[in-house]
Amino acid sequence: MARLLDQILIIDIEATCWDGPTPSDQEGEIIEIGLATLDIATLKPLEKRSILIKPERSTVSPFCTQLTTLTQKQVDQGISFGAACDLLKKDYHARSRTWASYGDYDRRQFVRQCEARQVANPFGPSHINIKNLFALVYRLSREVGMAQALKHLDIPLEGTHHRGIDDAWNIAHILARLLSDCRMPGTEADML
Ligand code: AMP
Ligand code: MG
Repeated sequence: MARLLDQILIIDIEATCWDGPTPSDQEGEIIEIGLATLDIATLKPLEKRSILIKPERSTVSPFCTQLTTLTQKQVDQGISFGAACDLLKKDYHARSRTWASYGDYDRRQFVRQCEARQVANPFGPSHINIKNLFALVYRLSREVGMAQALKHLDIPLEGTHHRGIDDAWNIAHILARLLSDCRMPGTEADML
């Protein structure tokens, strides 16, 4: 499949979680896919979106609501995981575009849940781990969390930390700065 290099899809998921081990009759499931798009020509974040997903094998614990602000009632209005994967492919060309997340958790959770549900992974093979790239580009001695990365760049944290939509939007701003700092002066599009 031809690669699309017009935008990067920034993905930040929230999942059901507990204060301690996962209850034996439940499993961690994605309840929100936060998505932001980053325009590669201008390095401007363009769109942000929250896709809520109704969990099928777990419920939203009080701890999870405290962390994410998401409630069972909210995610009950969500779509199925399969429908969300279809939407990513159809509306965002997720299989052909580069996608990025802060750390490797989001990518691994997609692999896990797609396998468990026998759903094709909506994403293509080109994934950027921004947490790792950030530490390498800015020569840090260890990887840092999203909030600390924003602080490092003097970018304000917008919205609610641990809401997928806001995390994705903030991460898009981190990636925009990072790419801007990495770009060679004097290079324009269509150099090939
Ligand atoms: P984040 O993108 O940092 O909001 O985290 C994504 C998901 O990781 C959350 O929706 C939780 O399922 C899980 N998670 C993050 N932080 C914690 C925590 N302190 N305790 C348990 N689970 C967490
Ligand atoms: Mg998040």
